[in-house]
Amino acid sequence: MESVSFPRIVELDTVTGLPPRKMLDHDLPVLLRSMGVSGLPMCSIMIDIDHFKKFNDDYGHDIGDLVLRHVSSLIRKAVRFRGEAYRYGGEEITVLMLNTTGAEGLATAERICSIVGNSEIMTEVDGAEQPLSVRISLGVASTDTVAGSALLVSSDRALYNAKSNGRNQAILFRSDRERVVTTTVIDVHFPSRTAITGGNYILLKKWFSRSDPTDIEAREIKDPNTDSSEFAEGPVPPFGLVEAEIRGRVSAIERRGNHTYFRFEVKSYIIDLMFKYIQDTRNANG
Ligand code: GH3
Ligand code: MG
Ligand code: MG
Repeated sequence: MESVSFPRIVELDTVTGLPPRKMLDHDLPVLLRSMGVSGLPMCSIMIDIDHFKKFNDDYGHDIGDLVLRHVSSLIRKAVRFRGEAYRYGGEEITVLMLNTTGAEGLATAERICSIVGNSEIMTEVDGAEQPLSVRISLGVASTDTVAGSALLVSSDRALYNAKSNGRNQAILFRSDRERVVTTTVIDVHFPSRTAITGGNYILLKKWFSRSDPTDIEAREIKDPNTDSSEFAEGPVPPFGLVEAEIRGRVSAIERRGNHTYFRFEVKSYIIDLMFKYIQDTRNANG
């Protein structure tokens, strides 16, 4: 560990007071190599200020700069014993931490998140003192689960997840293999009686959607256990039926006269496929 140190003689970025991107580009391969030789993990934390544009828009670019400098200095201070913070670009900051696993990196990221979230920035707006608060999102990846060459991009993926999960939080990157597969629920109308029951996996073989793929009508459904199909009559929109199998699990069946309504749980990525099937069918039928 003694042999590894962050280069200290650097020209700091004038807005943030952090080492600039070109230092990150320089340090990363050097640190990856020496950590790799020692067999120790290293960690990257990608950080982005939440709704930063609002500071610029509401208070002006100078206050935006002040917020960025404030956040940067808190982050650099929080990691100073084990890592370094760099200005990645814009209002994005990258932290590299030596000898740090994903779990430890996540703990640090959560600490940084609350340090920043609990801090106040004193500003003068229209002659009056006004405290501003700021939030950040963080993505973490470590070489204990990710290849060195994929370290930055993986922490960036985790940052993206932190943003889409509601911001003001830290998320640890998980590879596709270990990621939990989520399900999406589709409402299905089958204009006929049917023998299918809740809890069973079935295939939708012919179906269409009037609005979006989470709301569809089925014309043929198949029970793979009995290899039998059931059909329903009814009007079909001009663009026609999609003939592509969708596999899912039936729940919450409601039978009303000659109509059946049920919920259909599919793997979330199936929705993207359904969009494509619907589009292809529309294009093929003008
Ligand atoms: P999100 O929560 O999704 O990250 O929202 P956001 O508003 O932070 O996202 P976006 O990336 O759209 O906005 C970033 C803004 O940061 C846009 C750019 O004008 C501003 N910005 C980038 N660098 C600087 C800087 O050095 N100073 C100031 N004041 N603004 C900057
Ligand atoms: Mg940004
Ligand atoms: Mg932002």
